[in-house]
Amino acid sequence: MDGQWVDGAKTFDTINPATGEVLTRIVEASAADVDRAVAAARRAFDGESGTWRKMPASERGRLIWQLADLVAQHIDELAELETLDNGKPIFESRYVDIPMVIDVLRYYAGWATKIHGETVNTFDSAFTYTLREPVGVVGLIIPWNFPLLLASWKLGPALACGNTIVLKPAEQTPLTTLRFGELAVEAGIPAGVLNIVTGGPETGRAIVRHPGVDKIAFTGSTAVGKDIMRAAADTLKRVTLELGGKSPNIVFADADIDSAVKGAINGIFYGKGEVCNAGSRLFVERKVQDEFLEKLVARAKKMVPGDPLDPKTRMGAIVSQEQMQTVLGYIEAGKSEGAKLIAGGNRVFVNGGKGFFVEPTIFGGVRNDMKIAQEEIFGPVLATMSFDDLDQVIELANQNPYGLAAAVWTRDLKKAHYVSRQLRAGTVWINTYGLMDAALPFGGYKSSGFGRELGQAALDHYTEIKTVWMNMG
Ligand code: NAD
Repeated sequence: MDGQWVDGAKTFDTINPATGEVLTRIVEASAADVDRAVAAARRAFDGESGTWRKMPASERGRLIWQLADLVAQHIDELAELETLDNGKPIFESRYVDIPMVIDVLRYYAGWATKIHGETVNTFDSAFTYTLREPVGVVGLIIPWNFPLLLASWKLGPALACGNTIVLKPAEQTPLTTLRFGELAVEAGIPAGVLNIVTGGPETGRAIVRHPGVDKIAFTGSTAVGKDIMRAAADTLKRVTLELGGKSPNIVFADADIDSAVKGAINGIFYGKGEVCNAGSRLFVERKVQDEFLEKLVARAKKMVPGDPLDPKTRMGAIVSQEQMQTVLGYIEAGKSEGAKLIAGGNRVFVNGGKGFFVEPTIFGGVRNDMKIAQEEIFGPVLATMSFDDLDQVIELANQNPYGLAAAVWTRDLKKAHYVSRQLRAGTVWINTYGLMDAALPFGGYKSSGFGRELGQAALDHYTEIKTVWMNMG
């Protein structure tokens, strides 16, 4: 807070999910601590100097770029911290998450000098134009699945637009965000611009209720997103929500089957399936179903859970014991609803330890109305279904409360684009799964939330538009 480490009265443990052991203890910020963080952010925004928003845009961009350079210099350390705290394979932290943090910061560093209003022709006797101004103090609330990466999706545009920040990482995974805070100070981001408060739901609620916060950007579960929207109503905060998903992955018989199998595996097992856009509902055209599932199961069985710090590991530990129990509970629900377990299904013990590992799990013979096809599991569990024709699969794919992402595999271009337009989802991949870029907007339809992160679109959520009329008469 305000560029300083601050102690707190209460602490909680952060656990290494690969071993079940305590990594360290972290301060649980109270409402009074949140108050102090908001006051620092307000001073940095409203204060005499208004340090951040009044700074030349090119200087703001330069400081964000400098922060990206520091993240790049500390990439190994940050990747290791992320893996220790979250259980994700080091391969993912080192070669996907942290590199994308750097890309996102650099992308928005470039935007700092390109945020502008318009002059508008109205009357001859008037000069009319718009200004784009920062929203103010923004509260950023982050989940545990991509801790530093999802923080960067919000920090990048928030900083570029000149806002000041109170950021709360998830209680399961606070470590990389705290180290990032130190790097921000080292980069020269002025005190009070970025304030980090650690803690759980109570700390989050204190940010959402705080009258000194102008906007909340939240990524997390749909249930908490609804709570936040309700709680933010009293102070009429701007709200953007990136919520859950249950994304359909559709394979037509004319697809390149081997690529589609690889895509389906990546789609559900990357990040242990703890991915908001995981391709957790797989629809395969009946004609190729047997061949497809055989190849899919063979590949899944090769993905043995292992030590997340081993560079060869592709399936890490579930983030917490609680989440592992949730995942195992869904596997039981699938069995009792009559779906057929065709791969995995069990907890595994890696190196004889107490870590929270679950096998890559696939269900066959799923109906779209089963719990495992409707609810977000957020773990390595795939529900597979078959279909006979185009309209049927579009209907099934859309029959779900969520609408975050989807994928289509086919060699028929017209079909690919037709299906993409019919799907109610914020992202559609054709013949690939899960690609992301800092320049492309990401976000949901329906219960997956609203507002877009990344790309130019995100800037709209971190700026207000002011209209100015000048009488020239
Ligand atoms: P969660 O909703 O339980 O928690 C997310 C964050 O909100 C945490 O920091 C938590 O401490 C805080 N929080 C909890 N209750 C709160 C409250 N009442 N008020 C304010 N803050 C509160 O989610 P999670 O379990 O950490 O993450 C998993 C969920 O996130 C999944 O549903 C997943 O789909 C979703 N997610 C979505 C995206 C996306 O971009 N759409 C990305 C990643 C994760």
